[in-house]
Amino acid sequence: MIRKTLTLAAALALAAWAPPARAATPPPGRLNVVTSTTDLADIAGAVGGNRVSVVHISEGYQDPHFVEAKPSFILRLRNADVFAFVGLDLEIGWMPLLVDGARNPKIRQGGSGYLDVSQVIPVLDRASGNVDRSQGDVHPMGNPHYWLDPENGRRIARLFRDRFVQLDPAGAAAYRANETAFEGRLNAAETAWRADLATIRGKPVVAWHTSWRYFAEYNGMSIVGFMEPKPGVPPSASHLAGLMATIRRTGAKVIVMEPFYDRRTADLVASRTGVKVLVLPPSVGGLRGAPVGDYVSLMRYDVAQLAAALR
Ligand SMILES: [Zn+2]
Repeated sequence: MIRKTLTLAAALALAAWAPPARAATPPPGRLNVVTSTTDLADIAGAVGGNRVSVVHISEGYQDPHFVEAKPSFILRLRNADVFAFVGLDLEIGWMPLLVDGARNPKIRQGGSGYLDVSQVIPVLDRASGNVDRSQGDVHPMGNPHYWLDPENGRRIARLFRDRFVQLDPAGAAAYRANETAFEGRLNAAETAWRADLATIRGKPVVAWHTSWRYFAEYNGMSIVGFMEPKPGVPPSASHLAGLMATIRRTGAKVIVMEPFYDRRTADLVASRTGVKVLVLPPSVGGLRGAPVGDYVSLMRYDVAQLAAALR
């Protein structure tokens, strides 16, 4: 962490005199939107249409907890009208330095473009007592992976609509129409995958990270255990022994995991229990070769793959 901080500090100093990157000059006349993740970027673009210009900072195939944000984004943040982020400390590793470096009052807390998306989300796994970060839990403020529930996708879209209308009232009708169209695409997709949800509902599964908690809330799969003993803490031998006993007892058929975790550990559990390993993209653009280039496609793909694995 210290090394990362120094690297970023050095980069901030460089950015002070470096010539502006191409990313720093958005098209004129549009709301300039920066999002932390690809999922927020896709939904912001769907709602904003041709009245906004959107860039994202982390890629969908990166572990969102451990992104090394490029210092070139300081320049883009400097000109941003809106900075939207997942919140709940997901971006804690890079956001303070980049936002400070941007020196843009609009995107500071209380500014017109500061958009902590978690504010409109019913957050899962909020700690009830004192939070203890010393044990490595990367979800000290509650579970930040909420975009994996389509109902939260709708909440995110409505939040962008409302903020864009505030900042660009001339586009109000367009933003409302775009948001309605986004929900329409999501509704149609949900109707089409209803049979898949019936397959998934009630089935015991294991997940690597608690990122799949929101997906489970939505589709009714029963997560009987996690590969990680705590969010962000790699599995120990004793934890895996207990988990394998749970898999045998519950008859769980699948381990759901993101592409950026250590597949060999999941394969080891699979070889000893007969469980299947299912690698799913957690975000837009999250898996090479998979058709998950936008939010609705991402949800469609993950539902279909999970249902196929459980059939
Ligand atoms: Zn997480």
